[in-house]
Amino acid sequence: MTSATDLTLAGARGALARREISAVELTQAFIGAVEALNPRLNAYITVTPDLALRQAEAADAALGRGEGRALTGIPLAIKDLFCTAGTRTTAASRILGNFVPPYESTVSGNLLRDGAVFLGKANLDEFAMGSSNATSAFGGVENPWKRRDAPEAVLVPGGSSGGSAAAVAARLALGATATDTGGSIRQPAAFCGIAGIKPTYGRCSRFGVVAFASSLDQAGPVARTVEDCAILLGSMAGFDPKDSTSADMPVPDFAAACARGVKGLRIGIPREYRLDGMPAEIEALWRQGMDWLKAEGAELVDISLPHTRYALPTYYIVAPAEASSNLARYDGVRFGLREDGEDLRDLYERTRAAGFGDEVKRRILIGTYVLSAGYYDAYYVKAQQVRTLIKRDFDQAWERVDAILTPATPSAAFGRDDKQDDPVAMYLNDVFTVTANLAGIPGLSVPAGLDAKGLPLGLQVLGRPFDEETVFAVGAALERAAGFDAVPAVRAGA
Ligand code: GLN
Repeated sequence: MTSATDLTLAGARGALARREISAVELTQAFIGAVEALNPRLNAYITVTPDLALRQAEAADAALGRGEGRALTGIPLAIKDLFCTAGTRTTAASRILGNFVPPYESTVSGNLLRDGAVFLGKANLDEFAMGSSNATSAFGGVENPWKRRDAPEAVLVPGGSSGGSAAAVAARLALGATATDTGGSIRQPAAFCGIAGIKPTYGRCSRFGVVAFASSLDQAGPVARTVEDCAILLGSMAGFDPKDSTSADMPVPDFAAACARGVKGLRIGIPREYRLDGMPAEIEALWRQGMDWLKAEGAELVDISLPHTRYALPTYYIVAPAEASSNLARYDGVRFGLREDGEDLRDLYERTRAAGFGDEVKRRILIGTYVLSAGYYDAYYVKAQQVRTLIKRDFDQAWERVDAILTPATPSAAFGRDDKQDDPVAMYLNDVFTVTANLAGIPGLSVPAGLDAKGLPLGLQVLGRPFDEETVFAVGAALERAAGFDAVPAVRAGA
């Protein structure tokens, strides 16, 4: 048998059901892998081996009674943005460094309901703000992939869900939860050679997920295969009366959709995603993706999404505006860090000065500025208007196509020290991903090839609101055609 940590989630589920491996054995294999590699990769902020073993014992008992559910005995990493009852939840910020939530997020609760085992809390950019995982107050995450020409160089795993993606790529979990406000599921998935889907806004509850930008935030899974993502999303998704933006829609069988194929589907190729100066390898991979889908019977359609060029500036107004409002609650009074002061105002100021990192402070400043009297109409209202136009571009495209194919990121993983002193260069990472958040549509990143340096590159599939099934069908077809079987240099058992 393959080593337990090399199993896919679907493969592990089969092995557990056939009792070829017990949930405790599987969990122990992952705990050992985390112990061996996490000191180097820093993919987890908090590890919970005792909790995981208790959950695994309960899973074995349930399996023994024939009461296995969708994820019974499956070891997962939980992004440290999801509140977990009794387990510290930091959002990778000093300001929540001591916060132990008394309640469970709906998404992580759904996974527990379905029998999952929690190995620990995955590292991320502070409050999910970033594209490299470098803004975490608990230190950066190392991408387990290495450049062929510079194997000693430390590369970023992408962000903000960099710990989730690195943990899955290095075989330190079978899958992980993540969140995506402007690309934080899809970009780290692409950088780490795994799959990840941001579902339609409203598909997964935001209850108990530390808020960044509430009109853009969506939870979703990352895993090694498209089917594994489909299985995880099936558990994570669902209506939740505790989130007023949660959609009261049935949760379809996403995993079944992976086998549908693409025959007769119309796939849009948006001309605005052909950027000047885009690396030739990314362009070539995109073209390869088109050829794969055509060979499987899809029809390619040239489309235009004319407001694409305004998406990044729009995102970087809307997201900080909402963030500045959401982060007002960290005042040192009710929970989290408190720095004592001479009076209440001084306590607020000292707490926030000591608790937030530079990128978070930058977003609060930008957000406060664009919401302030005199600038509100010029920036915030204008950005909301452009957001409507971006959404309308997609609404019009869906009249002609069933899904859209684009590159996932404009580059492969970069070095840990690159772009760190240039926030705008960092923001450009999100050029292909933010549109889906602004429009609320689902987007899936699929590992599709390697660049000349041996680093993974991803393709992105976008779909109609609440049509994740077509997105999974297209993504699984790309995955089959790509036959991506490369593995990162740093991984359990290597
Ligand atoms: N990189 C983007 C940002 O820094 C997106 C982050 C996210 O999706 N959480 O805002």
